[in-house]
Amino acid sequence: MDLLETAAKSLLARAGVPVSRGGLASSPHEAVQTADRLGGPVVVKAQVPSGGRGKAGGVLTASSADAVESCARRLIGSTLGGFQVANVLVEEHVAIARELYVAFTIDPTRRLPVLLFSPEGGVDIEATHADAPSAVRRWEVDVRGGLSDDDVASWLAGVGSLTGAERERIAPAVARLYQIFSELDCELLEVNPLALTTSGNVLALDCKLSIDDAARPRQGAALRDVGVELPETGTELERRGRELGLSFIELEGDVGLLANGAGLTMATMDAISHYGGRAANFLEIGGDAYTKGADGLRLVLSNPKVNSLVVNFCGAFARTDVMIAGVVSALEDLEPGVPISFAIRGTGEEDAAALLRDRLGREPHDGMESAVKAAVEAAATAKAGG
Ligand code: GDP
Ligand code: MN
Repeated sequence: MDLLETAAKSLLARAGVPVSRGGLASSPHEAVQTADRLGGPVVVKAQVPSGGRGKAGGVLTASSADAVESCARRLIGSTLGGFQVANVLVEEHVAIARELYVAFTIDPTRRLPVLLFSPEGGVDIEATHADAPSAVRRWEVDVRGGLSDDDVASWLAGVGSLTGAERERIAPAVARLYQIFSELDCELLEVNPLALTTSGNVLALDCKLSIDDAARPRQGAALRDVGVELPETGTELERRGRELGLSFIELEGDVGLLANGAGLTMATMDAISHYGGRAANFLEIGGDAYTKGADGLRLVLSNPKVNSLVVNFCGAFARTDVMIAGVVSALEDLEPGVPISFAIRGTGEEDAAALLRDRLGREPHDGMESAVKAAVEAAATAKAGG
């Protein structure tokens, strides 16, 4: 998932990487207001998740209110790199002494993060790289050690063409960029240009940031913080499952099931079909999630389609008494109206059965077939009755 420059820069600023002052505008009027607030000349930048905006006329400089207005009018609503421009970023214009290229990405063959750096950054970086690949230097990052300011400064010393003072100024920004790259599960974090300004500052003037789609659940909160709303996927229950760290899939049927491990869950689903029922969900609470029995149960039972429930636990490393203890507490709490059948086998099964008996006055079925059959029949009865 590619972020817009403005969101990416908010993340950079939060992590202590300097960026220009600026603001987002969705109309020429707003753009003028923002420019006013900033004072002095500004750059007006089309916000689309694509590169090469500078060359395509999507980055304009304006030094009067009229110019800002006309730049914004030209950009907003236009199409750039295949995207419609909804907003422009209005930023103070800075005087650049030197443009550097800095990017972190994952090398898929080496399976590690790499830093790409060139002292000749800017809009012609692709041409630079094609003509003189040696102008872009590559450094493999040790994921265990991370990157300190000193690491970066001494690596930059080997790159040449930067003064000691420049290296000292750039190194902390680069080290922080790596921190962002790793903390946000980025596939790419590219700052081009990282500018050295004539007044001696380091500024990230542009930023392309792409987050691994698989990390969306983990990064949702950080992204919402900077105004990025992830398009929601899945049903409401599935979203709640993700928040709880459970793999939950809502299905069409009315027999709820709670089993540990994907394999046992699939086998339980097969058994439900075999006895003529239809499963209401897939839910995995195996592995690390085996203490999440209570959360899982709440989720399954909050599905209004559920007419009955089968709890099928098979203990090995995961203890059935631990899982059942969670389930029993949740049931005492929820007092669900639907009939429930239990099958419990393996590690801790006697303690688990005793818990059921003592706290719920229930006995587990003698095996999973019998428990599943009871749940399917109970669901059919509920359906016929309701
Ligand atoms: P891209 O073409 O999509 O990568 O967009 P950039 O954000 O990198 O902008 C293109 C170019 O505009 C940059 O490489 C800079 O050379 C230039 N630019 C952007 N902001 C400023 C600024 O504040 N001052 C100056 N002098 N140039 C800027
Ligand atoms: Mn750029």
